[in-house]
Amino acid sequence: MARQNGFIHIEALANELAARFFAHRRLDKLARVYRQDARYAYLRWGADAKVRQLEEAFPHLRAEEAAPSPTSTMAASVERLDLATVMKVSQATSGPIVLDALIDMVMRTAIEQAGAQRGLLILSGDDTLRIAAEATTSADGIALRIHDVPVSATMLPESVLYHVLRTHENVTLNDAAEDPLFAADPYIRQHCVRSVLCLLLMNHAKLTGVLYLENNLAPRAFSPARIAVLKLVAAQAANSLENARLYRDIATREAKIRRLVDANIIGIASWRLDGSIFEANDVFLRIVGYDREDLVYGQVSWHDLTPPEFRHLIERAEAEARQTGRAQPFEKEYIRKDSSRVPVIIGLATFEASRTEGVAFVLDLTERKQAEEKFRDSERRYREVQRELAHANRVATMGQLAASIAHEVNQPIAATLTNAQAAQRWLNAQPPNIDEVGRALGRIVKDANRAGDVLARIRGMIKQTPPRRERVDINAAISEVIELTQGEAAKSGASVQTALAHGLPCIEGDRIEIQQVLLNLLVNALEAMSTTTDGARTLHIVTGAAEGADGPGVHVAVCDSGPGFGQNSALAFDPFYTTKPAGLGMGLSICRSIVHAHGGRLWASANLPRGAIVQFTLPAKQV
Ligand code: ADP
Repeated sequence: MARQNGFIHIEALANELAARFFAHRRLDKLARVYRQDARYAYLRWGADAKVRQLEEAFPHLRAEEAAPSPTSTMAASVERLDLATVMKVSQATSGPIVLDALIDMVMRTAIEQAGAQRGLLILSGDDTLRIAAEATTSADGIALRIHDVPVSATMLPESVLYHVLRTHENVTLNDAAEDPLFAADPYIRQHCVRSVLCLLLMNHAKLTGVLYLENNLAPRAFSPARIAVLKLVAAQAANSLENARLYRDIATREAKIRRLVDANIIGIASWRLDGSIFEANDVFLRIVGYDREDLVYGQVSWHDLTPPEFRHLIERAEAEARQTGRAQPFEKEYIRKDSSRVPVIIGLATFEASRTEGVAFVLDLTERKQAEEKFRDSERRYREVQRELAHANRVATMGQLAASIAHEVNQPIAATLTNAQAAQRWLNAQPPNIDEVGRALGRIVKDANRAGDVLARIRGMIKQTPPRRERVDINAAISEVIELTQGEAAKSGASVQTALAHGLPCIEGDRIEIQQVLLNLLVNALEAMSTTTDGARTLHIVTGAAEGADGPGVHVAVCDSGPGFGQNSALAFDPFYTTKPAGLGMGLSICRSIVHAHGGRLWASANLPRGAIVQFTLPAKQV
């Protein structure tokens, strides 16, 4: 049979049918069918001379062209089938099914066979009907457009379509414009539709779609002989369309799975229960260090990949997968091709069809394990540093103690020296001033006792004896320290003024330690002022009541008119921070720790118009 672009051409069809007609002249019954088909094909092709020739030879042909009944059955027309056409459809639909190609073939065959001007293929989806293709004939042949649009009154007579769907009967209209049932349909009126053929596409009693054909040039355009062929084509197409759709769904699913495998985000491998791995993506191969060739030659197997200590895990997972279809993800290690180990997490699932094959999803944990190791390392390091710090702290505390001894004992020794020299001077005086000598010796005794007290306290601290708790009158403690520092004050030319508040509560604490603080602050202030050249050098000591979070307490401020801390008020409390050539830098830090140990607070600020204020609070009762 002659074909054009793989499809039967009407002219060729007409010639062939005529040829058959002559060849089967004696088989009258069949010959009548072919004669009718040939006349019809010539008619459609427009070969009027040929039609006239046939009609003259066989006048019955014109009379035979009866209007087909809309409900004419397949059985009645089966003898009229063009077997070649049906075979063609059959063959085309039994090959590899590609939906678009199938639609193309169905539409072209339908249009050619029916001699339709226009045709629509409507496919049913999930509760919807959508136009899948539209074919139109023109002088250039058949133009096919693949669509996916909803059914609408602008595309076809909906009344015809819904009649077919409702009654499950095909509709053939010889002249739609005159049909009492459908003439009023807006589409039929607007497009002056004449011949209509609307065929159900059913597959195993399930609606696959509808084939709609129309011809607006002539009534009775669809020959009854062709309608039978079309019905068979439609039946075949319905079946194939359904299959093609299933194939397409499977192909879409397959493509999605392929995408997952080829995306190479995680390792994926297909396995058999005998341990062989017959398919794997690149990531999996990279994890285990094998190449594709190894896989092809069957050299990759679970047994070789799994270290002995993990065998029980994989066996348990396989048993679980066999029973339930999947195994919970678990961590294990693989032995790579180069014998190194790689940590992985793996999940298994068996294929639905056979529980002896399945797929494994594998994630390389190397980076995570390294991160964990790093974290553990840094934890270890952190604890080490903490230990080192604690050690350094102890060393610093010892240093601090040593410095503190030197610092605190230095004061009374220096004062002793001063007083001893003074005593010598009074003794050498003419006449010697015994009273003054006596007073100087008294101060020496006090200083010596003080030095002894300090050393005893420090010894106590070293021995970890609990701090002494006694009632300390802060004003009295201050007066005593002022007396001790008189010589220092005189040397630096500073006047010492006090504003001590009455009725202050007594402090519960260590008198010596509190006096150590006061002594430090006073000496610091006097030393600072000894460097100033402008203005009077005044040391002002003020006490007052303080109401802290821990109840009533005292507030002490040591104010001087020296150069002040400047930018160093925060640094000044750091151990070993000093700006003095012979300084130790321990005074303020020790003061702060003593005040803290008594539950108080010590801080520094600027004095106005110049100088520094170092002040502290102490709660009356320690919590
Ligand atoms: P040092 O024994 O070196 O004086 P301190 O801890 O007592 O150590 O003081 C640290 C530093 O704080 C001092 O070197 C000094 O620079 C500064 N400083 C302390 N008291 C005062 C003050 N009243 N006025 C100005 N600077 C001060």
